[in-house]
Amino acid sequence: MAWDFSTEPEFQERLDWMREFVRAEVWPLETIFEELGEDGFRRAIAPLQEQVRERGLWAAHLPPDLGGRGFGQVKLGLMHEILGSSPFAPVVFGNAAPDSGNSEILALAGTDDQKQQWLHPLLAGDLKSAFSMTEPDSAGSDPTLLETRAVQDGEDWVINGRKWFSSNASVADFLIVMAVTDPDAHRYQRASMFIVPADTPGVQIVRDVPTMEHPYDRKGVYGGHAEIVYDEVRVGPDALLGARGAGFLIAQQRLGPGRIHHCMRWLGVSRRAFDMLCERAKTRYSHGSLLADKQTVQNWVADSAAEMHAARLMTLHAAWKMDTEGASAARLEIGMIKFYGAKVLHDVVDRALQAHGALGYSTDLPLEQMYRFARAARIYDGPDEVHRQSVARQILRGYEAPEDGVPSEHVPTRREAARARFADLLEAVTSND
Ligand SMILES: Cc1cc2nc3c(=O)[nH]c(=O)nc-3n(C[C@H](O)[C@H](O)[C@H](O)COP(=O)(O)OP(=O)(O)OC[C@H]3O[C@@H](n4cnc5c(N)ncnc54)[C@H](O)[C@@H]3O)c2cc1C
Repeated sequence: MAWDFSTEPEFQERLDWMREFVRAEVWPLETIFEELGEDGFRRAIAPLQEQVRERGLWAAHLPPDLGGRGFGQVKLGLMHEILGSSPFAPVVFGNAAPDSGNSEILALAGTDDQKQQWLHPLLAGDLKSAFSMTEPDSAGSDPTLLETRAVQDGEDWVINGRKWFSSNASVADFLIVMAVTDPDAHRYQRASMFIVPADTPGVQIVRDVPTMEHPYDRKGVYGGHAEIVYDEVRVGPDALLGARGAGFLIAQQRLGPGRIHHCMRWLGVSRRAFDMLCERAKTRYSHGSLLADKQTVQNWVADSAAEMHAARLMTLHAAWKMDTEGASAARLEIGMIKFYGAKVLHDVVDRALQAHGALGYSTDLPLEQMYRFARAARIYDGPDEVHRQSVARQILRGYEAPEDGVPSEHVPTRREAARARFADLLEAVTSND
């Protein structure tokens, strides 16, 4: 029997250290982030990052042969569950999105020179990156409709187009840009990826788009989602990342791990919200009893616990399948946890917020911020509906309509067949009567 839900004691010790470290050293920074500013924040986390490196836990998303300290997806899942509890913990551990996903594609598709120039400094934390695919004027959920073009001019490529929601692009050193290079090719072979240094002439960061998460104007802040015009952006042949026309293939390779890493982090956010829900239930007295004694609140606690457990097992199972059979073999499992995990995250945070009443709605607690964060989870890296569609299609491929159109479980038809098969027995039973 190979089913085993235990964690190696040596790795458990690392997880215990991480949990304590994140809570003691990283959570406090959340409350003074705005006061620290970008530079102050970087100074505050530098010694923490050093401790993470000393522990051998830095950039754990990539295996050692690709330049990281990786342990595989299952262990990463257990680590991310802890890191997800704070928006800053992944940065302290060198595996924050979008840098983690970008380092994965550089590791997979980059040439030795590209790895030298971009991957190693990215992994070391010396560079910041962005992934620039979604456009305001074409459906991001169907990237075959991309409009940004890259046209060859001599040896160079010239990129023109408009992107938005390129996370961290306004502070990034380089952008990985998806652009159509072969408009007449098969729909999944039209686009290619390019590494574009952020200071290349023609790269215009228009703004960081104000969002539910940050509903005010700002620009050049870590965590922003930039709108970018690429206006006659000229890059050399060494900018092409992977083969020409392989943009979708690489995007799939990036988005598979990227998606599950989000799901892993959401477990940590849900857990933190759940702890707040339970604490509140044991504290708040109303209408003759504590909230903990009211059946609705008990339902919230029980439902949240069950859903979080299901999401955790689904996430770790998808991770295990990635480790054992590869990312593309785990497409179904990753798709399922992407939309299911986003819903669990949303519902748990929503219940915790509701249980706190006005306090939950206020910025005196992190729940309102978690709620805004949770809402985006249903959209980025593919909206829920697209993942559901993809999951359903994959499942339905295993089914056929019955030739005669009668449902295979149709009881009268089955009864008729059973009567024919057991005619002798039925005859004997009837004659005994
Ligand atoms: C916080 C955040 C960070 C992001 N970061 C990045 C980033 O770093 N880089 C990047 O390139 N992009 C990024 N994105 C963009 C994100 O990937 C896209 O928003 C997403 O793919 C959806 O594309 P769209 O916004 O164009 O929506 P559309 O494609 O216009 O879809 C709109 C809605 O239509 C519905 N829909 C679409 N297709 C179907 C279907 N087949 N069946 C049923 N309903 C459907 C869904 O409800 C969907 O939400 C980010 C987005 C957010 C919110």
